[in-house]
Amino acid sequence: MIIGEKFENKQLEDNFKKRKIEVKWFESFEEIKTYLISAIPVDATIGIGNSQTLKKMKILETFLAKGNTVFDKTIGKTPEEVKMLKKQALLTDYYISSANAISVDGRIINIDHSGNRVAAMHYGPEKVFLIAGINKIEFIHEEAMNRAKNTAAPLNAKRAGMNPPCVKVGYCVDCLSPERVCNFISIIEGQHIEGRMTLLIANEKAGF
Ligand code: SF4
Repeated sequence: MIIGEKFENKQLEDNFKKRKIEVKWFESFEEIKTYLISAIPVDATIGIGNSQTLKKMKILETFLAKGNTVFDKTIGKTPEEVKMLKKQALLTDYYISSANAISVDGRIINIDHSGNRVAAMHYGPEKVFLIAGINKIEFIHEEAMNRAKNTAAPLNAKRAGMNPPCVKVGYCVDCLSPERVCNFISIIEGQHIEGRMTLLIANEKAGF
């Protein structure tokens, strides 16, 4: 099966499997949401990583309505509340986030401003679901890194109302701006625990 005319998905799936990361394919983000609703029990705690894709999917609203306890920094009303929500999300049963870039060779790349999102992906939550559209897929991890730095970072910075140099020029200039958005760059190469991380890929485009 060809996804986005770029690659055979079996190759990507096999490469992630060797790294103990499961891949599931969906036709749409709506299908992913339906899957998550059935996969996460109502008594589970959930952390959410801030993301355009998850906002569009209304993941926060969906799980609040279901009755889960959800820790999402975007519901914090004060800097102290935001800080607490970021910390509480690190000890949840489930963590849901999007990915900035994934590669057919089996890596997941993310950039992060304060580090809470990539920290939760790395360690803490028992189970991690990472969501990506086909626009996030590159063949090799060098291309995925290029995507994260030169596409995702400037667009995320602009969305967050920050103004590092890449917002103006449209690509990374390796700045040391006080408004630098990529203080943390994470490459997930694999998982220690089989079954902890699942990549949910939609045959649609979304996010940066
Ligand atoms: S280092 Fe600076 S210019 Fe490069 S992506 Fe990060 S914020 Fe933008």
